[in-house]
Amino acid sequence: MRNIVDFIKKMFKTNDFIPLHEPRFIGNEKKYLNDCIDSTFVSSVGKYVDTFEKEFAKTVGSKYAIATVNGTAALHISLILADVKKDDEVITQPLTFIATCNAISYIGAKPIFVDVDLDTMGLSPDSLKLFLENNCEIKENTCVNKTTGKIIKACVPMHTFGHSCRILEINNICDKWHIKLVEDAAESLGSYYKNKHTGTFGKVGAFSFNGNKIITSGGGGVIVTDDESLAKRAKHITTTAKISHPYEYAHDEIGYNYRLPNINAALLVAQLEQLERFLVSKKELATKYKDFFSNLDINFIEEPKNSKSNYWLQAILLNDINQRNEFLEFSNKNGVMTRPIWKLMNELEMFKDCQKDDLKNAKYLEERVVNIPSSVRVV
Ligand SMILES: *Cc1c(COP(=O)(O)O)cnc(C)c1O
Repeated sequence: MRNIVDFIKKMFKTNDFIPLHEPRFIGNEKKYLNDCIDSTFVSSVGKYVDTFEKEFAKTVGSKYAIATVNGTAALHISLILADVKKDDEVITQPLTFIATCNAISYIGAKPIFVDVDLDTMGLSPDSLKLFLENNCEIKENTCVNKTTGKIIKACVPMHTFGHSCRILEINNICDKWHIKLVEDAAESLGSYYKNKHTGTFGKVGAFSFNGNKIITSGGGGVIVTDDESLAKRAKHITTTAKISHPYEYAHDEIGYNYRLPNINAALLVAQLEQLERFLVSKKELATKYKDFFSNLDINFIEEPKNSKSNYWLQAILLNDINQRNEFLEFSNKNGVMTRPIWKLMNELEMFKDCQKDDLKNAKYLEERVVNIPSSVRVV
């Protein structure tokens, strides 16, 4: 244990406390922020929002990008765009950050938990297929859950720590069952599956720019889609559904104040310019961790087959929950921040009654996976 902590300190060239993930502002951040402040356009409109949306769409290879105030808001709107309504059901993975399930709940829909694959830590296409075959039927072009009688409207897989799940296979199953695919790509900017960027496989995808993500605007998010009418609707309902007019206030439905302020977008434009550099640094760190842990016979989690990972959060797989707890205790006490993967969503009070399959793999990973310091290193 001591040797792991020492190695991490050597990697980050410090004896001070090492956080799990801290942002790096080593580009044009201050320049753009100053420019934004000087312009006085710090709020709802401004050139940085427009620039960011254009540049982001280009980066991931989607036609449209709509900036939002955070990733949860992006997910919430994405689910609305996928036509999820109150009392619908949405399939997702139990191993995810709470935001995925919160967004589903904001609509009054209910999550169903289907197991993950061990290698990707993301939704398993085999488990998804089995769940649908055992529990659902297609009626009038909708997927009906025979247990509850409700419609399964959407499926939200998540690319855990930047490792892509088998998204193409999941997309094909969703198509067959008339389920809309909404990707929670909050953690996977810069990650690809079979050379296509994550977040661009389904009708809509959502990303986050929270302070701990690979690039950050303090708080922020974005929705991506190739569908022009969905893009227009996303912009409309994230900006209070105001009908465009030079001075009059009129709104044509209940909208949301989910827009990204221009000042946050200024920070984000500068961050996006550095994405390539951040990706290189993270990959380098992953290679160093991999070599180190293979000598110790500890399983370092690598990018799965057919994918290119952004290695947002680096992770190791320990032998069992006792070894995990020992490692968490020792490292955190000795100045190196480490963190277990999330508690399974179905174990939380709010979601304990939701339908689920056996969740065997999710449970296995929950007891063993630990994140280790992953910040971009400045050399
Ligand atoms: C970060 C994250 C989100 C969105 O979080 P925000 O803090 O609202 O930007 C959603 N899903 C997952 C899996 C995340 O990691």
